[in-house]
Amino acid sequence: MFDLIIIGGGPAGYLAAERAGHGGFKTLLIEKRFIGGVCLNEGCVPSKALLHSAKIFDYAKHGESYGVTTTGASIDQKAVIARKNKVVRNLVAGIKGQLKASHVTVKEGFGEILGRDQGVIKVKVGEETFEAKKLIIASGSEAIVPPIPGAKEGLEQGYVLTNREILNLEVIPKAMVIVGGGVIGLEMASYFNSVGSKVTVIEMLDKIAGPTDREISSILQKNYEKKGIIFKLGCKVTGLPKGAVEFEDGGKKQTVDADSVLLSIGRRPVTAGLGLEKLGVLVERGHIVVDDIGQTNVPGVYAAGDVNGNWMLAHVAYREAEVVINNLLGKRDVMRYNAVPSVIYTNPEVGCVGETEESATAKGMSCKVASISMNYSGRYMAENANGDGICKIVVDPVHNRLIGCHIIGNYASEIIVAAAMLIETEMKIDDIKEFIFPHPTVCEIIREAIFQL
Ligand SMILES: Cc1cc2nc3c(=O)[nH]c(=O)nc-3n(C[C@H](O)[C@H](O)[C@H](O)COP(=O)(O)OP(=O)(O)OC[C@H]3O[C@@H](n4cnc5c(N)ncnc54)[C@H](O)[C@@H]3O)c2cc1C
Repeated sequence: MFDLIIIGGGPAGYLAAERAGHGGFKTLLIEKRFIGGVCLNEGCVPSKALLHSAKIFDYAKHGESYGVTTTGASIDQKAVIARKNKVVRNLVAGIKGQLKASHVTVKEGFGEILGRDQGVIKVKVGEETFEAKKLIIASGSEAIVPPIPGAKEGLEQGYVLTNREILNLEVIPKAMVIVGGGVIGLEMASYFNSVGSKVTVIEMLDKIAGPTDREISSILQKNYEKKGIIFKLGCKVTGLPKGAVEFEDGGKKQTVDADSVLLSIGRRPVTAGLGLEKLGVLVERGHIVVDDIGQTNVPGVYAAGDVNGNWMLAHVAYREAEVVINNLLGKRDVMRYNAVPSVIYTNPEVGCVGETEESATAKGMSCKVASISMNYSGRYMAENANGDGICKIVVDPVHNRLIGCHIIGNYASEIIVAAAMLIETEMKIDDIKEFIFPHPTVCEIIREAIFQL
């Protein structure tokens, strides 16, 4: 008999298991594929390893802007993938070590809920049945494969890819079409553009990067158009025959050549086959419904990470898992989503947190916006030849607080957390003005933007 069973060993599941084990819970973690989940094995970490190789290659190719001349720079895609695999292996080994240190029992296989009998939850893995008082479902999400003619055949034959396959491509395609201009699509567009593919991004909406601030999306798009990526916005893909992508642009049928096609139109929570109905767990629009401590409608049954459909981000999954475990260990803790940073690891990077002017206005909030060039930061200027980044802050003038910050420019990924902390702690603008920022850092841009108000 376990205190806690967790289904799914991604960021939500492994962090919950570590914390629960550390807190003295007898914990079982069930994983059907790889410990580390999508994030470590086929998402966040491998994509960032690839993008870093691309960044080094870009610096090598364009070093002359910084007085550095290189000749013969080339990319070895097999070596890039091998390095990525090594990074993943090391990180996964680290997680396994932490689980062991927390005395977590790990079971490989598909976890299926059998039901609850006199307060005891039963979960089957293969021929074995395990019992526990509490259950966390952390089964994550999977890529949506749209019912476009050719998609299924393409996946079978290998010319259509999801995130799973693209991160293992050992041959750089001459022409790559990316269906979906959201975060995953843009990061992969960035990588394959840097390493020499002719990249076309086809997006149904009239802008890239989903809910990102419109001005920032537009700067990102212009940066990539300059680098040669073709964007087809407001277009619908209608067919994926081998070697091409068919789409409609303003009612007109068009075709673009493609050796490889990435499907990145979104992800959906994984709930099939879990046996949720055996416990009566409420699922709405494909995701498990949870309250602010991560509990489902069934007492003692929790869901954390992508499967609850709140935010499909690894750092949110970590925090949701932490909130569930804190409550299980007797410490009251609740989820708040008003200061979730999100990053696009393109080159330039984009980092956003909180309200945009558009979203604040749509919610009827009064807001004041300051927008400045990233060139106000000495370090940004020193490191980004011809950089056209901006930092935009959104302030609630009634309470004199920061409610949003949106940055395009390198290091945005690393500095956005500062803005998130200012939002989360509801710090007054006048107090922020008294902070001393290290100089010269790109982070000083937040201080500069605040002083523009
Ligand atoms: C290409 C790509 C890049 C990304 N980049 C970022 C990024 O830079 N930053 C970021 O924050 N997020 C990023 N994400 C999103 C991030 O990967 C997810 O938000 C995160 O992995 C969610 O964690 P999770 O624990 O909820 O689920 P997952 O990581 O999906 O893990 C769920 C695990 O559950 C297992 N499982 C499912 N059902 C069962 C079952 N019945 N029995 C046993 N095991 C089961 C699965 O095998 C899986 O290992 C990226 C995603 C992709 C695809």
